[in-house]
Formats: sequence, C-alpha cells, structure tokens
Amino acid sequence: MSAMAGGDDDPPDEFGLIAELFAPLAAGYPGALGLTDDAAFIAAAPGFDTVATMDAMVAGVHFLPDDPPDLIARKLVRVNLSDLAAKGAVPAVVMLAAAFPCGTTRSWLRAFAHGLRRDLDHYGIALIGGDTVSTPGPLTLTLTALGQVATGRGLLRSGARPGHDIWVSGSIGDAALGLKAIRGELPGLADGHLAALADRYRLPCPRTGLGPRLIGLALSGMDISDGLVQDLGHICRASGVAAEVDAAVVPLSAAAAAAVKDDQSLLALVLTGGDDYELLFSAPPEAADAILILAKELGVPATRIGRVIDGGGADAVTVRGGDGQVLAIEREGWRHFRGPDDKGAGGWSD
Ligand SMILES: [Mg+2]
Repeated sequence: MSAMAGGDDDPPDEFGLIAELFAPLAAGYPGALGLTDDAAFIAAAPGFDTVATMDAMVAGVHFLPDDPPDLIARKLVRVNLSDLAAKGAVPAVVMLAAAFPCGTTRSWLRAFAHGLRRDLDHYGIALIGGDTVSTPGPLTLTLTALGQVATGRGLLRSGARPGHDIWVSGSIGDAALGLKAIRGELPGLADGHLAALADRYRLPCPRTGLGPRLIGLALSGMDISDGLVQDLGHICRASGVAAEVDAAVVPLSAAAAAAVKDDQSLLALVLTGGDDYELLFSAPPEAADAILILAKELGVPATRIGRVIDGGGADAVTVRGGDGQVLAIEREGWRHFRGPDDKGAGGWSD
C-alpha cells in the first residue's frame, strides 16, 4: 500500500499498483492468494464445466481514450460476462491483463480500479490474477472470465433446429444508435432518448440472470456483439440451418423506436449494429410459455423474433418486413425492398 503513496500524477510502480488497487479485488477468493503468487488456484466443482472467455478492448478501437476510466473498466467486465451468460454459465472469477500507456496517472488508475470493484461486487465475482505492464502504445485491456455450467449443459451456437423459435432478450439496436447519439448524429431526438441510447452504448447490461436459467429451455445461444443479423448468421452456420426474422417484432426501446420513427432508414442500423450484448437464442415452441414466465420473473424482456428453418449457406438469414416482403440487408445497412419471391438475391455477407 505504502508503495502507492504519492501524488496523483506520479507514475506508479507495478507492485504498488497491484497491492493498492487490485489485491483488494481478490480478497474474497482464497485461491487468488492475495495476488501475491505466480498463479491462482481454482477449485473445480464436481459435475460442472468451467467456461472460459476472453475479450480485449483497445483505446481508440473499442472505446474512446477520454472515456471515463470507471466506465471503461465496467464495460470490460460486462462484455465478458455477456459471453458467459450466452453459454448459460454463472460467472465466478476474472483475470486482467492491462497494458497502461506510459504516463498513466494514479487518479486515472484509481478511477479504473473503482469501476472494476463496483462491477465485480455487483456480479459477485473476484479478480484472481493477471498482469500489468506499461506500453508506448494505446491503453489495451484484456479480461479473461471464468464461469460454471453443469457438465455438458452449456448453450452452444450449434444447437438451433428447424421449427424452433428465435428469441432475443431486452431491446435491440440501442448501442449502435447510442454511438450515433454520442457523435451528435441524431439531431431532433429528445435529450432523454439521446441519454438513454448513449448509456446503452457505454454500459451494456449482460444478461447474467437470464442466461443460466435458459438451460433446459433454449437449445442454442450466443450474445449479440456484432449485430443481430450477423450474429444470427453465426448460429445458422454453426447449426447448419437458416432463419427468418420478422423485423416488425424485433423489440425496440422507447428511444430507439423514436429514432426509427424519425428516420426509417435507421431500422437497418438497429438490425445490423453491434454492442447490444443481449442474448440471442433458439428454443422449441413448447418452451415458449416457460420462457415468457421466466422473463417476467426476472424482469428481462424476451421476445420471439422469428424461426429456424431448413437451409444454410451465406444467405442463411432472411429478414421480412411487416408485409412479408424480404428486406435486402447488407452489413452496412439495407439497400432496398424486394418482393416476397425474390429472397434468393437478398442477404449479406460478413
Ligand atoms: Mg459473444
């Protein structure tokens, strides 16, 4: 601790940094050994798989260099927990590899650690190890998250079957619209809506409660990080199936609905934009009632947006408008409407 005493602008040393800011985050996990050893020890629970995921975030790529450090830390935690939730896993521990630019100040680091602690506490998980280095390059943060799921029961991308329903949690498109809001590209939208969308971009809400409860109901799952259409394509390819989505029932927040009402072309961004971190899953029709009851119990909306069908290939995902017309969507946005029989030429690639 004493090694960190000093002014907020003095460069910290690595061991002082760990002792003051990160060791307290490991206090609740005996196997972390107070971050004083070479590695952490994780007790393996019989009957469970350990599920591991890792996401990296780079300043200027995944967040803005001047974003608030506490929010950067919390987003780092949340995008990783979203991946665990998508597998139906309950999060347990995380490991952090952080490359801080030379000259990073103590006050910045304290705010970062504060944000980290806030979300680790919120989700009931511990930091059990990692590494901190300095870099001449941009701030680069890598988090590994480990969780648990009953052996063999985790949700895979490959479990979608024809005839099953496609579901999403929460609302879709807020984060992509939020980035536009932050950039001032949604003129005319009410301040409350702009703030709501920006919040959804800066601080996703991983569905850590819903994911594990979908075990036994859903047969495939992933989280939406690259956009609904593209990510549903990942499920289709992994499962060897195709999918149809009804654009009219894709759930929108009040703010997103207002934005789309102002500018219909934004619906393409809603369907293809990334960073939502909602769950995308498929389930047999007979599970629908139980899923809706579960969603109500958890206070997390779940919406059936389409169905799994036979097919596959590059154009596995078809999006239909309210009148049944196929919406020709490309990754950048949609081009134009096509007739209901013109599906073969639509689609997108990634
Ligand atoms: Mg994912």
